[in-house]
Amino acid sequence: MERPASLLNQEAAARLAAWYRENSRDLPFRKSRNPYHIWVSEVMLQQTRVTAMLPAFERFIERFPDLQSLAEAELNEVLGRWKGLGYYQRARNLHKAARQMRDEGLMEPPLEYDRLLGFAGIGRYTAAAIASIAGDKMHAVLDGNVKRVLSRLLNREEKESVLQKHADEFLVRSGQRPSILNQAMMELGAIVCVPGKPDCKACPLLEHCLAFAAGGAEHAAGLPVSRRSASIPLHVQVFVHRRVVDGQCQYALAGNADGPFLKEELTFPYTAAEQGRYRYRSAILPDTDRPSFRAGSFRHSITKWRIQCEVFLREEELDGALWVAEDAIENRLHSSFSGKVLELVRKASDGAYDSTATHQARGVKQSRNLKTKQEELDQKEQYHQPKRKGHPDAVYHPGIGKKRDHLTKDQGKKKGNR
Ligand code: SF4
Repeated sequence: MERPASLLNQEAAARLAAWYRENSRDLPFRKSRNPYHIWVSEVMLQQTRVTAMLPAFERFIERFPDLQSLAEAELNEVLGRWKGLGYYQRARNLHKAARQMRDEGLMEPPLEYDRLLGFAGIGRYTAAAIASIAGDKMHAVLDGNVKRVLSRLLNREEKESVLQKHADEFLVRSGQRPSILNQAMMELGAIVCVPGKPDCKACPLLEHCLAFAAGGAEHAAGLPVSRRSASIPLHVQVFVHRRVVDGQCQYALAGNADGPFLKEELTFPYTAAEQGRYRYRSAILPDTDRPSFRAGSFRHSITKWRIQCEVFLREEELDGALWVAEDAIENRLHSSFSGKVLELVRKASDGAYDSTATHQARGVKQSRNLKTKQEELDQKEQYHQPKRKGHPDAVYHPGIGKKRDHLTKDQGKKKGNR
């Protein structure tokens, strides 16, 4: 007969707390009781592994050491300091919440769980982490690691509300400080009760674990059943428009509020098609045919999308664009996706831009060099762009496989909806 979850008693909690004191990693944000540092670190950790997050955390705290400095900063700078972490909405919310707190006269995040929930981007997990770790308030933290540990301790799949109830009950009867017990549960999930095969022999809760009792580490490894949705293929064509003004190269950027990814980020204009069906087109892209230099392609994963991206370069004006100079472009593009596009364009047109040439001469030089580059590419990849009806941006490329008229047709059909 299955044992009850009440095996998570004071004795289990004492073992867990002792294990945590002995074995926890030396992480700067775990030593801190500063609610601002705890808040920033927990937000960063939500979608990012500790190893990737640590240098970014240190850089962020160095530039924005407290709530005031974050609230006073320009959003663009905050996004710049978020580089490499992805999911930029977290940085926007962090900045927005810092301003909300400042406007309420706060010098640091409050420690009251309910009050924390009122600020931008702070949900139950983040509120519980701040309130319990910084304030030792009785709120159990339920992150992905803790959910996995609890599912295995209980030897069953449970919905989040049930797991939260078990976590709360364990915390209340533990006799331990919430800051210690919560961090111990998170750390156990991060380094012992890991997603692959858990290291049950090193686990302080081995005697309390129903999954281990039922079938050892092999059996426990199957819990919880992964519910990760498969990533969805998306075909993206990015059109980098470039011009030269007063001797400096400028790039055209577009708003992306309705895009399938990087919402609210500035991006190079692009089209996106999902399973051959049109999904998105930057509003400022022209409908008429334009000569484009194919700079190359790359693969990229972002949120649920598995992107196959082709990059095209156009040396021409683009109405409605935000033009950003070469030396400022990296301050406006924060995502690694746009970084890959830029890198490809720079590589492909390497030598085409000569800062010492006159505007006119440079234009000729650029066109000539890009033409040569294109010819090289054509020879290498037997690149063709046959005359045909359909969307001007549709491109035939044997390296990618198929004529892009599927995009063209769907775009054409849906044009009236845009
Ligand atoms: Fe996880 Fe194994 Fe510990 Fe159970 S005994 S909580 S499965 S590490």
